Amino acid sequence: MPPYKAGKAVVSADGRSYKLSSNETPYDPLPSVVEAIAEGARQINRYPDPAAVRLTESIAARFGVPPEHVALGAGSVTVAQQLFETIGEPGAEVIYAWRSFEAYPLLADLAGVTSVRVPLVEENHDLDAMAAAVTDRTRMIFVCNPNNPTGTSIRRAALEAFLDRVPSDVLVVLDEAYREYVRDADVPDGLELYRDRPNVCVLRTFSKAYGLAGLRVGYLVGHEPVASAVRKTIIPFAVNHLAQLAAVASLEAEAELLERVDTVVKERTRVREALIAQGWTVPPTEANFVWLRLGERTLDFAAACAVEGVAVRPFAGEGARISIGTPEANDAFLKAAADFRA
Ligand code: PMP
Repeated sequence: MPPYKAGKAVVSADGRSYKLSSNETPYDPLPSVVEAIAEGARQINRYPDPAAVRLTESIAARFGVPPEHVALGAGSVTVAQQLFETIGEPGAEVIYAWRSFEAYPLLADLAGVTSVRVPLVEENHDLDAMAAAVTDRTRMIFVCNPNNPTGTSIRRAALEAFLDRVPSDVLVVLDEAYREYVRDADVPDGLELYRDRPNVCVLRTFSKAYGLAGLRVGYLVGHEPVASAVRKTIIPFAVNHLAQLAAVASLEAEAELLERVDTVVKERTRVREALIAQGWTVPPTEANFVWLRLGERTLDFAAACAVEGVAVRPFAGEGARISIGTPEANDAFLKAAADFRA
């Protein structure tokens, strides 16, 4: 099996380093969140609350869903793994778009589930082809909205029509890791779509907009049978004490965090427009990254960015995903992109 490749930092000859390879927030943690962690450090001789009651209730209250519909994991990738464990049986199939989040094929392989990859069309999900790919062995479909790594998103009418076509015994997972960055009002909120659809659930994370990538907290919102299956498949105590406290503190400081998201969204517009002005084709993005289809030039492009101290996420032979960072980091990236075209 190929290992999961995480984004790595690079350093320019003059010592600059901008990590735009993992879609993290470029901001330092909020003082109130750091304080909550420092305070919680006094109890780390004890196991965490296995049911993470306070965090579960905070999420439920924040999003107006019953606590029974919320299930946690050590990052949303772990929640996805718990879903794979739940449906994993010989012959089971999972459908997802490709290219999409790299963990889907890895988790499918680990669970012994057969991957059915449906190629993107114009860098976006081909929902017709995905619906047509359903067989009597299909157990689960991942829809990554906005899609990692292309940033493209699915509109309300298209997604609703798709959900109406999927058989009710197939679980549809709306992976909304980048939901907080969506500004197009026509991109539906999965938390509205799941309510009347027992076979639809939503994955969210504290790793991106909430800035807790290093602590590993993600969650699912879904109907009781789905949420309880995820709760049963979690490794006991997987969401640690500090992660639980930091996630609660982040929800309490949400207004401040979402202001930062607004700044990233403004930078996203600036970066995309600057790239287009340089002559690049850049798919519209509702996430905190942009996608450049570079084909055979992908690794050369990543190397050119590294000269400026910019780490991007290359997918050899396909393209590169570049996270939106601080204005300074984005400028360094734009310079590398301009030099590469010249
Ligand atoms: N889903 C998508 C689409 C992602 O891009 C990521 C992170 N790269 C995840 C899930 C997992 O994030 P985490 O495990 O940090 O919550």
